[in-house]
Amino acid sequence: MGEEEQPAVVRIYAGDSVDTPAVTSFAIPPTDPPETRAVLRTWRTELSLVVRGRVPQSLVAELLAREVEQMDRAASRFREDSELSSINDNPGSWVRVSGYLGALLDCALESAELTDGLCDPGLGAAVDAAGYRQWRDGATPRPQPGAVGNWRDIERRGDEVRIPPGMHLDLGAVAKGWLADRVAFAAAERFGAATLANMGGDLRALTAEEPWVVTVDPEDSQVPAQSLRLWDAGLATSGIGRRRWQTTDGHAAHHIIDPRTGSPAETPWLSCSVVAATAAQANAASTAVLVLGDSGPEWLDRQGLDGWFVGVDGRQRRVGRWPQRA
Ligand code: AMP
Ligand code: MG
Repeated sequence: MGEEEQPAVVRIYAGDSVDTPAVTSFAIPPTDPPETRAVLRTWRTELSLVVRGRVPQSLVAELLAREVEQMDRAASRFREDSELSSINDNPGSWVRVSGYLGALLDCALESAELTDGLCDPGLGAAVDAAGYRQWRDGATPRPQPGAVGNWRDIERRGDEVRIPPGMHLDLGAVAKGWLADRVAFAAAERFGAATLANMGGDLRALTAEEPWVVTVDPEDSQVPAQSLRLWDAGLATSGIGRRRWQTTDGHAAHHIIDPRTGSPAETPWLSCSVVAATAAQANAASTAVLVLGDSGPEWLDRQGLDGWFVGVDGRQRRVGRWPQRA
């Protein structure tokens, strides 16, 4: 790559890009050598795959669409015919799962283990109790906390899984990170090129050559976006800036649950971005530190991970090797 040539810039916003036009949430200036990219708007967010070099765009788009459809069929909570729904419909019974969903479930259990349960795949009932299914229709009743599942009660046996009565699996957090890792590797293998997969803010970069340049924008007018260079790494952002609503009695609610209370986390952070070895690990950690609140930066530092915290009040904390300045 020549001196004045710019690597691709991908804008990653805190949380997801729901209700924003595609063009503002994903900006890649033309580059040489060029990138080939595909963008899908689904899951109320934006998913994209960038492959460095000139490869048929239709093949990149096809790979992305195929992977997203496979995930949707396996793990959507909002599809009656998904494998996940058959687990949620049969609490207390062993349910056979595909190797694909089994691998995702194992990743979810690892994420819970890694975060001591702060990132918990058993919180579906609490997410719904918080009003997540109705919030677009207006204020929701204040949730009664307590509908908390505990990931330690999720049992695995060969190709089967069993959840306890009352639990609803929700792989919404883990699925995007896991899929970003999977899609980046699948595309790298398919096209023999550097790849960047962004699943609604959970991103995996893969390159052995020029780094990918990724811009993280916490969407706070006082806090400028910040760019970082990634080679082989995952980056995930958790935030409460979007998917946020009011309960009928005037309380603020959002979609990140504190498993210790069963209610939306009370956190001082507008957004937490984390870099880790994989997007799956980055997602687990970014969820955990958002839930942890004030002690999030120290926890992240103890894990040896890098991150950037932007407070609701505008304060910032950078951890590890996160670059000091834009
Ligand atoms: P993300 O898009 O990665 O920020 O994940 C947010 C989604 O994960 C929410 O919409 C919920 O479906 C689910 N979720 C909420 N709180 C948690 C938590 N503490 N651990 C795991 N998943 C969660
Ligand atoms: Mg996440």
